[in-house]
Formats: sequence, structure tokens, C-alpha cells
Amino acid sequence: MAAKPIESLMEKLVSLCKRRGYIFQSSEIYGGLSSCWDYGPLGTELKQNVKDFWWRWMTMERDDVDGLDASILMHPKIWEASGHVEGFTDPLVDCKNCKQRFRADMVEGAKCPACGNEALTEARMFNLMLKTYIGPVEDDTALIYLRPETAQGIFVNFLNVQTAMHRKIPFGIAQIGKAFRNEITPGNFIFRTREFEQMEMQYFVKPGTDEEWFEKWKEDRMNFYLALGLKKEKLRWREHGPDELAHYARTAFDIEYEFPFGWQELEGVHNRTDFDLAKHNEYSGKSNLSYFDESTGERYVPYVIETSAGVDRTMLTCLVDAYDEEEERVVLRLPPKLAPIKAGVFPLVKKEGMVAAAKDIYEALRKKHKTFYDEGGSIGRRYRRQDEAGTPLGITTDGQTLEDNTVTIRERDLMEQVRVPVPEVVDWVTRYVEEGKAEG
Ligand code: ATP
Repeated sequence: MAAKPIESLMEKLVSLCKRRGYIFQSSEIYGGLSSCWDYGPLGTELKQNVKDFWWRWMTMERDDVDGLDASILMHPKIWEASGHVEGFTDPLVDCKNCKQRFRADMVEGAKCPACGNEALTEARMFNLMLKTYIGPVEDDTALIYLRPETAQGIFVNFLNVQTAMHRKIPFGIAQIGKAFRNEITPGNFIFRTREFEQMEMQYFVKPGTDEEWFEKWKEDRMNFYLALGLKKEKLRWREHGPDELAHYARTAFDIEYEFPFGWQELEGVHNRTDFDLAKHNEYSGKSNLSYFDESTGERYVPYVIETSAGVDRTMLTCLVDAYDEEEERVVLRLPPKLAPIKAGVFPLVKKEGMVAAAKDIYEALRKKHKTFYDEGGSIGRRYRRQDEAGTPLGITTDGQTLEDNTVTIRERDLMEQVRVPVPEVVDWVTRYVEEGKAEG
């Protein structure tokens, strides 16, 4: 089969996301707000499932990482200490002709990618932090930033968590939360936006053991995306060259995914050394962000290995990875654990006995799993709609149900059907969602 044109695959995905209630343009009735998106009923479920999977992976399936939920607004000095006021910038060029702005590293020469004129200015640095004012007076003393990364909330709480949880190094702190960046060139749907969510984990280690921990976390993070169900051949590592390292990083590797618009970063794994904790010690004037090792009598500022992923970007990756077209249908092959709705329940035709049996199953199932009931239209159309929505199972009551109390369960991917006794349906679906397959 010939390769599909790049734009068209993304366009099809954007339109499916709107049609099936995954993602809507923000403020649509006012013409939309550039690069902002709203998650609809199914998008909200998928987002929650992605976050739950990460949270379980980080804080439940291992016992050396604690959770945190720090505030978005923080003391402005934090961003001076972290280097963001000074260094969280992108080079920006303006087109003197059409007035559009671009990230300098995304254009070639002086030619404007929008109007084609040789009219681009020299690059100047542009700070990406969004600002606002706190309190009733809008002057410089009230200036405050919307956090551009969740990490700093973790650094400034290092001692609080370590003390409260009696943690010994090495240990980590995980957090999921909103971050804001005034990106010059947002785009590619939810890939790069100005408001997004991050899933970050900072792991505090003894200096000298950082390289070993860096390797362990690299391995763990790739395993995470494989466990999430992404196609292995679409994932790869890329190391940052010396000229692209962030101001805080000693070593940085990105996990990249092959999107329809090329290989792009999905997550960054960084060795941040003691940069942030040492800076906070200096700027706060309280040198208390350090660790006393009782077994050796040493005190030191820990090094930090960071894993930094985007929720929205992970969602986009799951959607792209799952999107498939067959002759007769579009199907979103989301793994059952991620699928917003686990099962659709349908009476084959709208006859009293079949409707009642289907409703009983729906009532029993929806207490455990997100379930959808639909009795309108042909059964084929109802299946297709759920295929597009990514629902892995279709449960249908029919004439035979009234005779032997069994139903048909149809799997989305192969469209195979099995007959299951009604009293076993809930357990069958639970097993399927947990194990991602029908057997067992
Ligand atoms: P990029 O070069 O793509 O702008 P970055 O290298 O600045 O990203 P990091 O600072 O390492 O990104 O952020 C960690 C993760 O947060 C990224 O891998 C991505 O998943 C997510 N992320 C960063 N910026 C955005 C954004 N503007 N929109 C959506 N997700 C983002």
C-alpha cells in the first residue's frame, strides 16, 4: 500500500478526535485560541488512563519514589535560582514583510517560511515563561511566573519529602501537573502547545553514582513506553549534542517517536547534577537542601537524574500509534488499559427481551469499567462507531441470549467473536482489560 500523505494522516486524526469526543479546539465558538485544546469526554478518559499508568509505574510498582503535587505559582526567586529568568529562551526571528515570528533553529537562512521573502531579522533571545501578577497591584513587585516545568516544585520540596518520609538516598519524587511555555512556534495538534501537562520524576543520588543511575533510568523509561503498548520500531534514543544541552544538564537523552511529521522528542532523561539544589541553597540563603548520610557521616548535595515526559504528547503518540484504516473501517487500536471505553453493550435488535438483557449487563459492567450502551441503528454501524472510538469490546445480546443466557463478545482488532455466559461477562471483561487479551 502506498504511503499516506503526511498532512492527511494528521488531518484525519484531528477530525476523528473531534468527531468522537477526544479533543476539541479551545474557544471554538469564538474562532478558537491558537495552540490551545480542550479534552472531550473520551479525551479526558484517555488522559486519565495515561496519567494513571505513569503514576502506578513510578510510585506503586517501585518503592523508592514518592508523589508530590506542588502549586503552579511559586516564589519568583525560584526562577532566578533555576536559571529560567536568564536562560529559558529560544532564538526568535521576525519577518519584516509579513510580521510573523519563528524559532530561529526551525528556519534556514533569511527566507521567511510563510511569505517566502528574504526578510528575516537577526535572531534575538525570547524568554518562554508566561507572566502574570499576584494580588491587586500590577507592578513589578507582584510579577509572578506560570511554571515552565514541574521540576522546581520538587527541588524546593526535597527536604520536606525526605524528612517526612524518612527517605534515604537514593530516592525519587514524582509529580504530574500543568506547565506553561510561551512557545514561538506551537503546533502539530497537541504536540507543542503553550499550556500542557508534564509527568516528571527527579531521582536524588549520591554524586559519583549518577552515571550508573542515569543508565538504569534510561532502560526503565524505554520499558515504560513498550509497556504502554507503543510500537518498538517507532521508538529510538537521541543524545543531545553539547550545543543543545539545557542550561542545567550534564547529559541528556531524548526518547523519540516517529510521528507523521518526523522523529520528535517524547521524553527527556537528564542528568541535572547538583545544579538546582545548589542554586536554591545559594539563592534562598538557607543551605539546607543537602543530605546527611548517617552510615558514613558525610553531608552532600545530591545529584539528580530526571525523567521528563508530556502527558499531552504521550496521548498524541498513543493516538497516532493506534490509528489504523482498513477498507471498511477506521479503527483506533488503543490497548485495552488505555481505551477510554472498555466495552459497548448492544441489543442486536430493539426487542424487549434483548434490550432488558443488554441493560442488565450494562448496569453490572459499568460499576467496574467505563461502558457504553447503544440500541440505535444497525449493529454494524454501532460496532464501527466504537471501533473508531477505540473501544476494544462489543457485547451483544441476541435471540440465543434469551434461550441459553449467553452473549456474543466481539473484539475490535480481529473482529473475532466468542460466546460467553452472562454471569461470567464482568470477570471476562476485567481479565481482558487487565491482561490485554481474551485468553486465560
Ligand atoms: P521541545 O524541544 O520539543 O520544545 P523541550 O526539549 O523543551 O521540548 P523538555 O523541557 O525536555 O522539552 O520537556 C520535557 C517534556 O515535556 C517533553 O519531552 C515533552 O513531552 C513535554 N513538553 C515540553 N514542551 C511542551 C509543549 N510546549 N507542549 C507539549 N508538551 C511539551
